[in-house]
Amino acid sequence: MIEKLSAWLLALSCIMVACSANQNTAISPSPDRTSTATTTGDPKSQNKPLVVTTVAPLTNIVSNIAGDRLQVQGIIPEGTDSHTFEPRPSDAELLRKANLILVNGLHLESPTEKMANSVKPKDTKIYELGSHTITQDQWMFDFSFPKEKGDPNPHLWVDTKYAEVYARLAAEQLTELDPKDKDYFATNLKNYMKRLEALDKVTRDVVASIPAKNRKLLTYHDSWAYWSREYGFDVIGAIQPSDFKEPSAKDVAKLVEQIRQVGVPGIFGSEVYPSKVEEQIAREAHVKTANTADDELPGKGSANAMEDTNPEHTYIGMMANNLRIISDGLGGNPKLVDNLNTGNVVGPTATAGATTTKSR
Ligand SMILES: [Zn+2]
Repeated sequence: MIEKLSAWLLALSCIMVACSANQNTAISPSPDRTSTATTTGDPKSQNKPLVVTTVAPLTNIVSNIAGDRLQVQGIIPEGTDSHTFEPRPSDAELLRKANLILVNGLHLESPTEKMANSVKPKDTKIYELGSHTITQDQWMFDFSFPKEKGDPNPHLWVDTKYAEVYARLAAEQLTELDPKDKDYFATNLKNYMKRLEALDKVTRDVVASIPAKNRKLLTYHDSWAYWSREYGFDVIGAIQPSDFKEPSAKDVAKLVEQIRQVGVPGIFGSEVYPSKVEEQIAREAHVKTANTADDELPGKGSANAMEDTNPEHTYIGMMANNLRIISDGLGGNPKLVDNLNTGNVVGPTATAGATTTKSR
């Protein structure tokens, strides 16, 4: 009853005022969302070209370049399994109005790309950031993304060096869409690249603080392949099988044995895939465990920099948290992350100055 009432109130508020773009990312069956999906609180934004993105880290990177000149709207809600995500009818409405569609590619958002291809305006480009960052022969296949299935590990953005390429490619695409704001995008890119370069440097410092013998990752979700190659880690395993279901008892026993043999002091779960299995494995192997994230930004807020008031709810904030968790689990120094500015370079948190993340 309360749910029905609140759904009715939401519908009413969407009619009375322009429905917030944030509501598009909330999972709700309300049919009103379909007609209000692209509007934001700012009535002027309805005249701005619409860029549709997919996962939150991409949305955050793109909106840091787009700033206030374009509407940027992510389709895949934070905390949702992006690998099995099926777009909803309201997403078709959004894609139908899109002027540019920026996705990761490497088979991550195949159902969304399929829908986009069938509903988007003829002139709207679908651009795969990942496919323009590496070539097919650089694809990595591993534990949860075995070669025989044909779907590569798609998590390029976790690697900060690739995130830098994403930002540059996004700036190119936004400039092509909106050439009059070329200089504005270039300035945002320059400022954002400085933040990413700082993140890269902190990452290298954190990695150096972890004893070399511990630079090994066993994670629940297999999202560290490219990051590990860049920063000198070995991915020794992933708990999640390639069908994204839970591992068998036999697999669990094998992983416990492997951890004992390799001798790592910590293993890592995933924010998006809450599972008791890694806790069980950690208990049996007598190691620490904590959750990392690759799709979900820390804390509450919008992945869109123009709508966000939380300077930690960013791609850089997500990676800062990951670095703390990994260094804490593997005997490094998490404090090295403390002075990193995780805020957006545009929007409400851009003028906050040197915002530093706090130790958790
Ligand atoms: Zn993932």
